[in-house]
Amino acid sequence: DAKARGRNRYCFYAPDMAERALERMTIEQGLRRALERQHFEVHYQPVVALDDRRVIGFEALVRWRHPERGLIGPDRFIPVAEECGLIEPIGRWVLRTACEQGAKWLAEGHAPSQIAVNVSVRQFGAEDFVYTVRSVLAETGFPAAQLELEITESVLQEIEHSQHVIEALKTLGIRIAIDDFGTGFSSLSLLKHLPIDRLKIDRSFVRDLPHDANDAAITRAIIGLSHTLELEMTAEGIETEAQLEFLRELGCQCGQGYLFARPALATALFVDGQSKGLN
Ligand code: C2E
Ligand code: MG
Ligand code: MG
Ligand code: MG
Repeated sequence: DAKARGRNRYCFYAPDMAERALERMTIEQGLRRALERQHFEVHYQPVVALDDRRVIGFEALVRWRHPERGLIGPDRFIPVAEECGLIEPIGRWVLRTACEQGAKWLAEGHAPSQIAVNVSVRQFGAEDFVYTVRSVLAETGFPAAQLELEITESVLQEIEHSQHVIEALKTLGIRIAIDDFGTGFSSLSLLKHLPIDRLKIDRSFVRDLPHDANDAAITRAIIGLSHTLELEMTAEGIETEAQLEFLRELGCQCGQGYLFARPALATALFVDGQSKGLN
C-alpha cells in the first residue's frame, strides 16, 4: 500500500542523500585543507601535430595528492569545488603554476609553444577573472600569446557576458579553445562571431573511430566546420594508430592521447635536460 511504499521510499532515499551530502562535505573540507597545504599537482599532457607528432604544447591538468587516498583525478573533485566556490582559488593556483612552469621551460630553452589551462563556468563568470589572468601573466612573465584557455560550450550558454570576457581575453593576446566540443549546445552563428581559436573534439567521439559510422560522421562534420570557420582543431583521447590515421586524413591538425603520452609531472617530461621525445 501507499504507506509502505512511502516508507520504502523514505528508507531508500534518505540515507543515500545523507551519504552524498556527507561525502560532499568531506570533499569540501578536504579541498580547503589541500589548498592550505598545497596538496594539488599539475600534470602536463603533450599536444602533438598529427602529421609528424612533434609536440606543440601541453595541457595542464590538476590532480589532488591526498595524503591517505593517493592521487585523485579532477572529475572526482572539480564538480564539488565548482559548487562550493573553491574552484576560484584552485583554478587560480593551477593557472599560476602552469604559467610559472611555462616561463621556466622557456628560460631553459624547451619552448613548448603553448600551454592550455582549463577554466570552469564559475571561474569564467567571476567578476575578477580577466584581472586574475592579467596579473598571473604579469607576475610569471609567461607570454599571453602562448597561453590558451579552454572553456566549454556551457560557458557560452550560462554566462551572459561571456562574449565580452572572451573579447577582453583576446585583447590581452590569449588564445581561446572550446573544450569537449560536440557534447554541449553551441549555436554555430555564435561560434562564427566569437574570436575562438580552436575546437577540441570530445574524447567520446574519438573512442570508437574509425569503425563507428556515427562517430566517424560527427568527427568529419566537426573537422569540416573547423576548416570552414578557420579554427584550429585538436582531437582528444587518441589511443590507436587507426584513430590517428583517420583524423589526420580528415585534416585534423593536432591531437592528444595515450598513444602519444599520458599526463605527467613536469619533472617527468624533461629528464636531465633531455626531453623524452619532446622538443
Ligand atoms: P579535459 O579538459 O577534456 O581533459 C582531457 C581528459 O582526458 C584528461 O582527464 C586527460 O587525462 C584525459 N585523456 C587524455 N588522453 C586520453 C586518452 O588517450 N584516453 C583517455 N581515456 N583519457 C585521456 P583528467 O586529467 O582526468 O581531467 C578530466 C577533466 O577535468 C578535464 O577534461 C577538465 O574538464 C577537468 N579539469 C582538469 N584540470 C582542470 C583544471 O585545472 N581546472 C578545471 N576547471 N577543470 C579541470
Ligand atoms: Mg581540457
Ligand atoms: Mg576535453
Ligand atoms: Mg572533459
